[in-house]
Amino acid sequence: MRRKLVAGNWKMNGNLAANSALLNELVAAVGHGASCDIAVCVPAPYLAQCQQQLVNTAVTWGGQDLSAHEAGAYTGEVAATMLADFGSHYVVVGHSERRAMHAESNALVAQKTLRALRCGLTPIICVGETLAEREGGQTTAVVGEQLEAVLAVLESADLTRLVVAYEPVWAIGTGKTATPDMAQEVHATLRGLLAARDPVAAAGTRILYGGSMKPDNARELMAMPDIDGGLIGGAALKSVDFLAIIAATSIQ
Ligand code: PEP
Repeated sequence: MRRKLVAGNWKMNGNLAANSALLNELVAAVGHGASCDIAVCVPAPYLAQCQQQLVNTAVTWGGQDLSAHEAGAYTGEVAATMLADFGSHYVVVGHSERRAMHAESNALVAQKTLRALRCGLTPIICVGETLAEREGGQTTAVVGEQLEAVLAVLESADLTRLVVAYEPVWAIGTGKTATPDMAQEVHATLRGLLAARDPVAAAGTRILYGGSMKPDNARELMAMPDIDGGLIGGAALKSVDFLAIIAATSIQ
């Protein structure tokens, strides 16, 4: 049985005061134990604040991107070791906004994944198709290529340390959500690709759904057999919504 994970992706939102209130509300509600794993993936400058407010609670934290390089002359980039220095557990890799706005290729996403794993971070690898790709019947090919590029550089032992997030690009921040059946179909395809590499590890790999997940659609999505939690954008910024999604993981 895979333990569900609800991870918030704050994107480029927040400030010290607002974060403090949000994190306090989360901790007050979930305390030190929860029925699923919980994480917030925050802008790098706020990792220290997360470490301060979340240490020894049920809420873990992480970054939204990392450099593929170890260290050196890469102005503006953040190394995996720096995320780890502030107690990060997770890092989002290959979010569609980075693929689209920063031209991140499948090969770069694979290198970033390796770097995260080598530094003890759990990468949340995002894959997903655009609307044109879905309408062109290319969903399986696109997400397959994105995942295979990562699997190609990993050792089998690494598979147990990955989280995959299926995030249809057309559903991110748009209010449009994949139906539970549509999402399940892609999740099953992704698990099949993982299983082709290592069936035992694949059975334990968590595959999250992301794309306008909200309190009112979370329960149905999370009830699908291959949906192991959510990567949550907009709804992660309001404690009441984020907590309702967390609660939905245990009402099946
Ligand atoms: C995301 O950015 O990863 C995301 C899923 O956003 P939203 O929930 O706002 O669609």
